[in-house]
Amino acid sequence: MNLLIFGPPGAGKGTQAALISKRYKLTHLSSGDILRAELKTGELGAKIKTYQDAGKLVPDALIITIMEKAIIKNIKKGGVIFDGYPRTIKQAKTLDKFFKAKKINLDAVINLNLSETEAVKRALSRGQTSGRSDDNIKTIKTRFTVYNTQTTPLLKYYKKQKKVINIDGQLAIATVFKTIRQRLDK
Ligand code: AMP
Repeated sequence: MNLLIFGPPGAGKGTQAALISKRYKLTHLSSGDILRAELKTGELGAKIKTYQDAGKLVPDALIITIMEKAIIKNIKKGGVIFDGYPRTIKQAKTLDKFFKAKKINLDAVINLNLSETEAVKRALSRGQTSGRSDDNIKTIKTRFTVYNTQTTPLLKYYKKQKKVINIDGQLAIATVFKTIRQRLDK
């Protein structure tokens, strides 16, 4: 099974993706985590940090190359859950082509719904412990605008493919996970 988890910053994508990956034995591919790991690697790292700190998306060409490498490395082990990728129509279309070429099937897109007020609250509270330089109010606001303008069009894109599973992400972690499991086990 190959999945994608989708939702605004602070929706709990990372938390739910980790639970799903454990339950269904999928590799958790978080683009944010992969990029943060790249930060330690000199030249590319400095470029990535500028975008992350501003709350802006790193350019498509860069993230597509990085993610394709990660997919190739991990897909042999079985299914994957993508967290934070794709985030633009260009990324989604490229991923579709990549999947087609490799005969990989995307089974479902889990969409965590959450109000902006709650998402901002959660992202700010995470900022107190995450040590992430982009979990501050100014950057979170930008990340939201970026999400609303560049990433939400993907929902329509995947709805057309009849892949979207809508989940109420406002509830407690265990409740959200239970709902996801019920939908996936169907
Ligand atoms: P995240 O950990 O998913 O919240 O991502 C943190 C930051 O990493 C984002 O604000 C972007 O700067 C960058 N990033 C993560 N995933 C992507 C992506 N698919 N496309 C472009 N930039 C990304």
